[in-house]
Amino acid sequence: MSEFGFANKLKRRILIVEDEEINREILGNMLSEHYDVSYAENGQAALDLLKEHKTGYSLILLDLLMPVMSGEEFLAKLKADERCSSIPVIVMTAEIPAEVRSIKLGADDFIPKPYDSPEVILARCERIIQLYEDKSIIRSAEKDELTELFTREFFQEYVRQIDSFDESASDDAVVLNIEHFHAINEMFGRRVGDEILKKMADMLMQTFGNGMCIGCRPGDDYFYLYVDHRDGYEAILTKLSEELSSYAHMPRIRIRAGVYQNVDKHMSVDDRFDHAKFACDGIRGDYTRQINFYSKELNDADLYHERLINDIDDAIAHQDLIVYYQPKYGIQSDRPVLRSAEALIRWKHPSLGMISPGDFIPLFESNGLIQKVDHYVWSQAAAQIRKWKDTLGFTLPVSVNVSRVDIYDPGLQDKLMKILSENDISSKELMLEITESAYADDAKGLTEVVDELRECGFKIEMDDFGTGYSSLHMITDIPIDVLKIDMGFIRKMHKDEKSLKLVELVMDIARFLKVPAVAEGVEDASQVETLKQMGCELIQGYYFSKPVPPEEFEQFIIAEKEGTK
Ligand code: C2E
Ligand code: CA
Ligand code: CA
Repeated sequence: MSEFGFANKLKRRILIVEDEEINREILGNMLSEHYDVSYAENGQAALDLLKEHKTGYSLILLDLLMPVMSGEEFLAKLKADERCSSIPVIVMTAEIPAEVRSIKLGADDFIPKPYDSPEVILARCERIIQLYEDKSIIRSAEKDELTELFTREFFQEYVRQIDSFDESASDDAVVLNIEHFHAINEMFGRRVGDEILKKMADMLMQTFGNGMCIGCRPGDDYFYLYVDHRDGYEAILTKLSEELSSYAHMPRIRIRAGVYQNVDKHMSVDDRFDHAKFACDGIRGDYTRQINFYSKELNDADLYHERLINDIDDAIAHQDLIVYYQPKYGIQSDRPVLRSAEALIRWKHPSLGMISPGDFIPLFESNGLIQKVDHYVWSQAAAQIRKWKDTLGFTLPVSVNVSRVDIYDPGLQDKLMKILSENDISSKELMLEITESAYADDAKGLTEVVDELRECGFKIEMDDFGTGYSSLHMITDIPIDVLKIDMGFIRKMHKDEKSLKLVELVMDIARFLKVPAVAEGVEDASQVETLKQMGCELIQGYYFSKPVPPEEFEQFIIAEKEGTK
């Protein structure tokens, strides 16, 4: 039993079914030091008890002659109940024929009356329990050879057994992973990798092993632990990471963990650890967090994301994705002049309602689906430019957002050119917004792509400028046509001096680069005034209009035409 690591904490439960009080007392005295003993006065009372704790008993000691329901009747009923039939039964009797009958009914052993010495009875109970537990779990290799932790199947079985000893205990399911373990394997070889896995297992057992704790390595560099509920995981994890790094002589090996606290014992063992693993994988690559706790909200968000991923093709096919337009006005003249617009996607989901891009763009950026969405938006925007030219006789350049994934698509240029020719518009009319952080990722690679696009005549706007931490040096090297200052600075511009200075600085940079600056997120007249004084060329924001559907946008074009007449 030592492999459980909970030998002292948990006693197996034995049920004594016996009508004579004196016999119950004798047996109880013999066993209660080693087992948690419950009593029933007859078969019916025993069945009632079992109903409450179906799998909680490791053994039943059964008298045969009892009122209300005899031992034989009870045994027949017990063995017919799927969920109790695996509890071993030792029959206590004085007559041989009854023994034979009860063995036929499924009893495992018998203890003759009057009772033998306590040692003999204890030994018989222990042997039967051991036999049963062994039988139920010897299906494949029990331990992972490398780490000596349980294999998945055994682990699950033990978790179930632990639950059955104490259903009310609060336990946590913990999943741990060594970040970038494959890289360690590749760089230092499998032998070093194996040593690290072994060390990790030892550390886990040492750290958690003073309470209830069983561990498993289901594969690769994942570790599962089933432990008493506790607090302070953050500190434990920091310590584990430090210890493992120093053991391996590698700087900063990072261990991340997902914890499903106070598990729902009605849930299957698999599901509990799926929850913990989901939390663990949710922070993969996120260096700001080592630990993630599973919660219903987390799960709901995941289901929601799955749903969006599933539905995006339909959304494109049924045109549930709608492109809105937000005007950009030139402010350096006497009156604001409509100069262009930004195309911004909206999703009108048939059952989830309107979904804002903040809810799905980052998701689709992370899994590459954004390419489909972007392509759709580019086509729609190009068609819209054409339509306004045809119906209103007005050429309005529109900016579209270009994601990181698009930039590294070798077919990007062809795709854009095809869209232009399909709608018979020029590359001057479809402008491309690329977020500054994409430049910071890979300035050289991006510069090449941008150079080619500019050669085709596209105008490139650097979006969210100020958030991507480009170096000044880099900015002077990178070819851009418009600098779009991030909304965050505009918002705070009149609240703190630093933001105001930063906006001024961006204006200086734009002047230095000889490109116009766009301020977005401009909401009130005082911001417009300040920006105008600073020499900001263009403004996009609620001050003029929110992003609106194309039909509504027409009013700006019409007003503009009237204004310029
Ligand atoms: P972004 O490209 O920086 O777009 C500007 C966002 O600021 C838009 O949010 C716009 O509605 C919002 N905004 C503009 N003026 C104001 C203002 O005065 N006050 C406030 N509070 N907000 C203002 P939206 O439409 O929710 O889009 C959010 C982000 O989603 C966009 O940020 C962009 O990164 C992304 N996105 C939207 N459409 C597309 C798309 O078609 N493709 C890609 N790749 N990304 C898109
Ligand atoms: Ca943008
Ligand atoms: Ca922006």
